[in-house]
Amino acid sequence: MERDSSNRSGATAGEAKDYAKYFDFSTAKIIREEDGKTAYRINGRTIQVSSAPSHRDEKKRGKQEVEVHRAFGILEDMAGFGRGKSYHIRTYGCQMNEHDTEVMRGMFEAMGYEQADEYAQADVILLNTCAIRENAEDKVFGELGHLKKLKTERPGLLLGVCGCMSQEETVVSRILQKHAFVDLVFGTHNIHRLPELLRDAAHSRELVVEVWSKEGDIIENLPKKREGLRAWVNIMYGCDKFCTYCIVPYTRGKERSRRPEDVLAEVRELARQGFQEITLLGQNVNAYGKDFEDRTYRFGDLMHDISRIAVPRVRFTTSHPRDFDDRLIQVLAQGGNLAEHIHLPVQSGSTEVLKRMSRKYTRESYLELVRKIKAAIPGASLTSDIIVGFPGETDEQFEETMSLVREVRFDSAYTFIYSPRAGTPAAGMEDNVPEAVKKERLRRLNDLLAVLGREANEAMVGQTVEVLVEGESKTRPDVLSGRTRTNKLVHLDGPRSLVGRLVQVKVTEAHSWHVRGELVGDAAEAV
Ligand code: SF4
Repeated sequence: MERDSSNRSGATAGEAKDYAKYFDFSTAKIIREEDGKTAYRINGRTIQVSSAPSHRDEKKRGKQEVEVHRAFGILEDMAGFGRGKSYHIRTYGCQMNEHDTEVMRGMFEAMGYEQADEYAQADVILLNTCAIRENAEDKVFGELGHLKKLKTERPGLLLGVCGCMSQEETVVSRILQKHAFVDLVFGTHNIHRLPELLRDAAHSRELVVEVWSKEGDIIENLPKKREGLRAWVNIMYGCDKFCTYCIVPYTRGKERSRRPEDVLAEVRELARQGFQEITLLGQNVNAYGKDFEDRTYRFGDLMHDISRIAVPRVRFTTSHPRDFDDRLIQVLAQGGNLAEHIHLPVQSGSTEVLKRMSRKYTRESYLELVRKIKAAIPGASLTSDIIVGFPGETDEQFEETMSLVREVRFDSAYTFIYSPRAGTPAAGMEDNVPEAVKKERLRRLNDLLAVLGREANEAMVGQTVEVLVEGESKTRPDVLSGRTRTNKLVHLDGPRSLVGRLVQVKVTEAHSWHVRGELVGDAAEAV
C-alpha cells in the first residue's frame, strides 16, 4: 500500500525528535535511533517511538491535498501472523469508534486471528478509546489497572491502546509514565498500520508508540468485519468547527470527505449483502464535500444518490446546524429509504452561550432551521445533544435552553453536565457554575425530556408503524424489540424468526422510553 510519510507528525526517516517531555527522562537512555524511530530505555522498559501526538500540530489545518489510497493489502508476511491466535477489542465512545473497531476486526481476521469473547482467551487486547469526556478517560485508565494483572500472569499477551485518547499528549505521557506494561499505542489516523505495529510490538517486545498528529490520507478498501443488521459507513473524517469545549478537531484532524464513488460503491455492496439499515457517519456530515476542489457535490447530493440504492433505511449522524442546507432538507423530504429522523445537536438554547461555545449559529437560526425541517418533513423526529452548566451559564440562559426544548419538542436528547477537557479553549474559561447547580439543571432538563418523550409516545398509540426487528429486548428476553423509521424503540410479541425483518406494528401502549405494539399485516398472518 502506498503511504505518504509527509503527513506524519514527528520524526521522519533519519531524523530523531525529542520526546523527553512525555516522561521523566532522568533515568532514560537513548539506546537506538534508526528509520525515524527512537528507542529509549526507562525503568527497565524499552519504548520505541516513531511519532507521538503534538497538540500544537493537531490544531493546524494544512492546505495539502488529501490523497486517496485504494490499494490497501495485508503484507504478505503478516497474512498468517495471527493463525491459532485470538484478539479482543473493547470499544468506548461513539459510532465512529464502533466503526473503527469493525475495520480493526477486519484486519485482525485478514491476518488469521479469531475473535475472543473474553479477555482471558485473547492473545491481543486493544482498548479503542474515547476522549470526549474526562470520565470516559478515567474508565480506560481503570481498565488498564485491571489488565496489568493479566499482563503479569501472561507476559506474552499484547496489550494496545488506540482511538481518540491516544491522540492526546497528556494520555500518552501518562501511559509511558505509569502504564508502561502496555505494548502498543496508536491513534485514529494510522489504524491501517495495525498489522505492522503489531508485528513491531510482537517482535521487539518494546512499547511501540506511533500516533500521527496530522491526519493521514483516506485509505479505501480496508477490510471490515460487520455484525448485525445495521451497517455504518464513514463518509468523512475529522472536524473543522473547533467548538470551544470539544477535543474532536484535535483527535480526528481536519475534515476529509471520501469520494462519492467510493461511498456509493460501499452502500451498494452492503445493500447486496442484505443489510436493512445503513447509517452514514461523520463528525459533521453536513460538511460533506466542502473540501472537494474538483466538483460541487455536497451532502444533499450524496443522500439523493443513496436514496436510489435498494437498501430499506438510511440514516446519518451527526449533523451540525450551521451546515444543514436547504438542498438536504429538500432531498430528505422525498422520503423513500431516507429515514425521517434527524439528530441535530443544539447544545444550548442561549445565543450568548452558543457564542462562547463557538457553535456559529444562534437560538433564532436554530429554531428557523427546525421550522423548515418540520414544514418540509411532516412527522420528522428530532433528537439532540445538550450541555448544561457551560462556563458562565446563568439561570436565565439555562431557562432559554428549557424553553427551546419545549418549543422544538425533541423526542429525546443526550444530556451532559459540562466538564472541561484539557487542551480545549473552554478549559481556559472559568468553570464557575457550582456542581450542585449543574446537577439540578440536568435533573430539570431530563425531567422535561421525559415528559416530552412520553407525550410523543402517547401520540403514537393507535398508529401503525414500520419496525425493523432487531432482536430480543435487553430487559425482557421473551419480548422482541426493534426501531421505527423515526428511531423509536418498539417492543412486541412474536417469534424470533422475525429478527432482521421489517414488519408492520400497531402501537398499543406508550411508556417513557419505548412503545409497545402488536403485529399487523402479513407478518401477523404468518405467525
Ligand atoms: S462540530 Fe461537533 S465534533 Fe466538531 S468541534 Fe463542534 S462539537 Fe466537536
